[in-house]
Amino acid sequence: MSLFRKETPAEHYPVEKPDAEWRRELPPEAYRVLRQHGTERPGTSPLNAEKRAGTFVCAGCGHPLFDAGTKFESGTGWPSFWAPKETGVGTTTDRSFFMTRTEVHCANCGGHLGHVFPDGPPPTGQRFCMNGVAMRFEPKSG
Ligand SMILES: [Zn+2]
Repeated sequence: MSLFRKETPAEHYPVEKPDAEWRRELPPEAYRVLRQHGTERPGTSPLNAEKRAGTFVCAGCGHPLFDAGTKFESGTGWPSFWAPKETGVGTTTDRSFFMTRTEVHCANCGGHLGHVFPDGPPPTGQRFCMNGVAMRFEPKSG
Protein backbone atom coordinates (compact mmCIF):
# COMPACT_ATOMS: atom_id res chain seq x y z
CA MET A 1 0.00 0.00 0.00
CA SER A 2 1.45 3.33 -1.00
CA LEU A 3 0.28 6.18 1.19
CA PHE A 4 2.45 8.91 -0.20
CA ARG A 5 4.37 9.60 -3.33
CA LYS A 6 8.13 9.54 -3.44
CA GLU A 7 9.78 12.82 -4.20
CA THR A 8 13.22 14.08 -4.98
CA PRO A 9 14.57 16.79 -2.65
CA ALA A 10 14.79 19.24 -5.54
CA GLU A 11 11.07 19.09 -6.17
CA HIS A 12 9.15 22.34 -6.19
CA TYR A 13 6.10 22.92 -4.02
CA PRO A 14 2.87 24.83 -4.55
CA VAL A 15 3.88 27.21 -1.74
CA GLU A 16 7.43 28.52 -1.97
CA LYS A 17 8.82 31.53 -0.17
CA PRO A 18 12.28 32.99 0.30
CA ASP A 19 13.93 31.78 3.48
CA ALA A 20 13.90 35.31 4.95
CA GLU A 21 10.13 35.38 4.63
CA TRP A 22 9.66 32.08 6.50
CA ARG A 23 12.03 33.32 9.17
CA ARG A 24 9.98 36.49 9.60
CA GLU A 25 6.60 34.72 9.63
CA LEU A 26 7.25 31.68 11.80
CA PRO A 27 7.94 31.50 15.54
CA PRO A 28 11.67 30.69 16.02
CA GLU A 29 11.12 27.08 17.08
CA ALA A 30 8.72 26.36 14.20
CA TYR A 31 11.18 27.96 11.78
CA ARG A 32 14.01 25.81 13.15
CA VAL A 33 12.02 22.58 12.61
CA LEU A 34 10.14 23.35 9.39
CA ARG A 35 12.85 25.15 7.47
CA GLN A 36 16.08 23.86 9.04
CA HIS A 37 15.12 20.22 9.70
CA GLY A 38 15.33 20.68 13.46
CA THR A 39 13.80 18.38 16.06
CA GLU A 40 11.85 19.56 19.06
CA ARG A 41 12.64 18.16 22.50
CA PRO A 42 10.38 15.12 23.16
CA GLY A 43 7.45 15.69 25.47
CA THR A 44 7.38 19.45 24.88
CA SER A 45 4.48 19.72 22.44
CA PRO A 46 0.97 20.35 23.75
CA LEU A 47 -0.22 18.35 20.72
CA ASN A 48 1.02 15.15 22.40
CA ALA A 49 -2.05 15.25 24.62
CA GLU A 50 -4.50 16.36 21.93
CA LYS A 51 -7.30 13.77 21.70
CA ARG A 52 -10.19 15.69 20.14
CA ALA A 53 -11.56 14.99 16.68
CA GLY A 54 -10.11 17.30 14.06
CA THR A 55 -7.23 17.87 11.70
CA PHE A 56 -3.54 18.50 12.20
CA VAL A 57 -2.36 21.10 9.69
CA CYS A 58 1.05 22.44 8.69
CA ALA A 59 2.19 25.31 10.95
CA GLY A 60 3.84 26.90 7.93
CA CYS A 61 1.05 26.96 5.37
CA GLY A 62 -2.12 25.46 6.92
CA HIS A 63 -2.14 22.40 4.65
CA PRO A 64 -4.11 19.43 6.16
CA LEU A 65 -1.61 16.72 7.16
CA PHE A 66 -3.17 14.19 9.53
CA ASP A 67 -6.64 13.32 10.70
CA ALA A 68 -6.96 13.01 14.48
CA GLY A 69 -8.40 9.52 13.92
CA THR A 70 -4.97 8.23 12.85
CA LYS A 71 -3.14 9.57 15.94
CA PHE A 72 -1.86 7.04 18.46
CA GLU A 73 0.15 7.10 21.67
CA SER A 74 3.65 5.98 20.67
CA GLY A 75 5.31 6.73 24.00
CA THR A 76 8.07 8.64 22.22
CA GLY A 77 7.06 12.13 23.36
CA TRP A 78 6.30 13.21 19.80
CA PRO A 79 2.82 13.30 18.21
CA SER A 80 2.55 10.08 16.20
CA PHE A 81 0.21 8.91 13.45
CA TRP A 82 -0.22 5.69 11.51
CA ALA A 83 -1.23 7.36 8.24
CA PRO A 84 -1.21 10.83 6.67
CA LYS A 85 -4.15 12.43 4.95
CA GLU A 86 -4.28 11.84 1.22
CA THR A 87 -1.92 14.34 -0.47
CA GLY A 88 -0.93 15.58 2.99
CA VAL A 89 2.77 14.77 3.04
CA GLY A 90 5.72 13.78 0.90
CA THR A 91 8.86 11.87 1.82
CA THR A 92 12.54 11.90 0.97
CA THR A 93 15.45 9.75 2.07
CA ASP A 94 17.45 11.42 4.83
CA ARG A 95 21.02 10.20 5.27
CA SER A 96 22.08 12.68 7.95
CA PHE A 97 23.51 11.58 11.30
CA PHE A 98 24.91 8.39 9.72
CA MET A 99 21.44 6.85 9.53
CA THR A 100 19.12 6.26 6.65
CA ARG A 101 15.69 7.51 7.59
CA THR A 102 12.63 8.56 5.66
CA GLU A 103 12.03 12.27 6.10
CA VAL A 104 8.44 13.54 6.05
CA HIS A 105 7.50 17.00 4.86
CA CYS A 106 4.41 19.02 4.03
CA ALA A 107 3.35 18.28 0.46
CA ASN A 108 2.28 21.89 0.00
CA CYS A 109 5.25 23.95 1.25
CA GLY A 110 7.99 21.34 1.74
CA GLY A 111 8.31 22.19 5.45
CA HIS A 112 10.05 19.47 7.47
CA LEU A 113 7.67 17.64 9.81
CA GLY A 114 9.54 14.60 11.10
CA HIS A 115 10.27 11.03 10.01
CA VAL A 116 8.34 7.83 9.28
CA PHE A 117 9.39 4.46 10.69
CA PRO A 118 8.16 0.93 9.85
CA ASP A 119 7.27 0.04 13.45
CA GLY A 120 3.78 1.53 13.76
CA PRO A 121 0.49 -0.10 14.67
CA PRO A 122 -2.10 -1.64 12.31
CA PRO A 123 -3.54 -1.10 9.80
CA THR A 124 -0.46 0.42 8.09
CA GLY A 125 2.42 -0.63 10.36
CA GLN A 126 3.86 2.84 9.93
CA ARG A 127 4.76 5.40 12.56
CA PHE A 128 4.79 9.02 11.46
CA CYS A 129 6.86 10.66 14.19
CA MET A 130 6.06 14.35 13.96
CA ASN A 131 7.29 17.54 15.58
CA GLY A 132 4.29 19.15 17.27
CA VAL A 133 5.70 22.63 16.73
CA ALA A 134 5.54 22.03 12.96
CA MET A 135 1.77 21.56 13.16
CA ARG A 136 -1.38 23.25 14.38
CA PHE A 137 -4.53 21.46 15.51
CA GLU A 138 -7.91 22.48 14.17
CA PRO A 139 -10.74 20.89 16.19
CA LYS A 140 -13.69 19.62 14.24
CA SER A 141 -16.49 22.17 14.48
CA GLY A 142 -19.96 21.17 15.57
ZN1 LIG B 1 3.13 23.38 4.73
